[in-house]
Amino acid sequence: MSELFERLQPYLDRGMAIKAALTLFDWDNETLAPACASEKTAKIMGNLSGEYYRATINDEVRDLLAQLSTPEEKEKLSDTEKAIVKKMNKEYEQLEKIPANEYQAFRELLTKSAQIWAKAKENNDFSAFAPTLNEIVDYQKRFAEYTKKPGMSLYDTMLDQNEEGILEKDLDPFFEKIRTAVVPLLKKVMERNDKIDKSYNNRCYPIDVQKKFCRFLAEYIGFDFEKGVMAESAHPFTTNMHNSDVRITNHFYEKNLESAMFSVIHEGGHALYEMGVADELTLTAVGGGTSMGVHESQSRFYENILGRSEAFWKPLFGKLKETYPEQLADVEQNDFILGINKAEPGPIRTEADELTYPLHIMVRYEIEKLLISGKIKVDDLPQIWNEKYKEYLGVTPKNDKEGVLQDVHWSGGSFGYFPSYAIGNAVAAQIYAFMHKKVKVAECLETGNLEPIRKYLCKHIHQYGSTKNMNELLIGMTGESLNVDYYIDYLTKKYTKLYHIEE
Ligand code: ZN
Repeated sequence: MSELFERLQPYLDRGMAIKAALTLFDWDNETLAPACASEKTAKIMGNLSGEYYRATINDEVRDLLAQLSTPEEKEKLSDTEKAIVKKMNKEYEQLEKIPANEYQAFRELLTKSAQIWAKAKENNDFSAFAPTLNEIVDYQKRFAEYTKKPGMSLYDTMLDQNEEGILEKDLDPFFEKIRTAVVPLLKKVMERNDKIDKSYNNRCYPIDVQKKFCRFLAEYIGFDFEKGVMAESAHPFTTNMHNSDVRITNHFYEKNLESAMFSVIHEGGHALYEMGVADELTLTAVGGGTSMGVHESQSRFYENILGRSEAFWKPLFGKLKETYPEQLADVEQNDFILGINKAEPGPIRTEADELTYPLHIMVRYEIEKLLISGKIKVDDLPQIWNEKYKEYLGVTPKNDKEGVLQDVHWSGGSFGYFPSYAIGNAVAAQIYAFMHKKVKVAECLETGNLEPIRKYLCKHIHQYGSTKNMNELLIGMTGESLNVDYYIDYLTKKYTKLYHIEE
């Protein structure tokens, strides 16, 4: 055991404890906290963020990290300790360059901005949110300027924080390939779309029955209720304290069968990732999922690749029909499979089907690039947003509520985050292409035994926490780094077959 690392440990433990407290406040704000709490709670959270900053950014930690990074000291470290030092160095470099008072002010702004955005969205009033968004963009650009590496754009810096090493030069061709494949495929799909009737989805599904079925689905895919809980929030999400406390939320609509079912499978995929992190890593700086993109690959693997497949529903469709005998009386399994995969271009990202989804992300990627490079201003957003939706998806949002105000991300200061959704889809397809060689996926699904699939993902991804980045995991698992061709191949094959399109 390295004596220096032992001296670093109390600082790590303190940082971890404060982070856990902040996570719990976030969870509480989204699930149970009363509406009037936010402004005062924002002060508490601002203070805690300041404490986190001081626990992590100080002379002792800086000295210890510098000493631990020398070749002689590195040799004394275990692999986990090396990964922790590497991660801390990265975080340290970023935080150290941002003045403490600016960091704390930004955190406070974010807690308030969530409410301002929510109200502006409710009232369909972009101008009520624009000044706050302007402030957030200014902060993020300034922070990116502080931490920018040579040769990187400001937006590259933001992208790199979300997905290490994935920059504009990687994402431009990535989205170009998606656009070239998906836009014409969608056109062919739309010509055949009136044959699919999914009106069953909007019949009346009592919420208490939905809740019971969703709990069953979570358990079915392997969510461990001894190590996890479920609650309700405006938008479903997953959070965790460590690998034995993983929390997911859901949102129920009486007249929408699919929404909550696929949300619980999606969040369940995120949760399985966090529950699968090795015990020796959890509660350390490398104890969580490695990136947003890899996290989304797990949630989308479960939601789309498994959850929307025929094989997945083979052992389950009977139970679904028993659960809703009247609502689904005239629906056959094949109608249901077509229904849950129906492609319908619409204005709302979170309601998008698997085929149009990446186009929603492309709109946001292009807009963020323009905004962060200063080519457009916050006030231009509603118009550009609507133009791009028309261009790629052929739809024009009725108003800003279903247009530029729809997503929470920018109010939370997240720029460079959206691409991780598309990256996640692509990673999921790449994993799927290789998993077949080792696991009989269809057989597992058809017999209702998902354990081998979960174990395979745990062995190759979950257990590592964030000791490896996305491309390191992919190379270890599939022999190559991120390759969007698998995703395009998957979408093309799936939709060509579902819609009987001649190739
Ligand atoms: Zn997700």
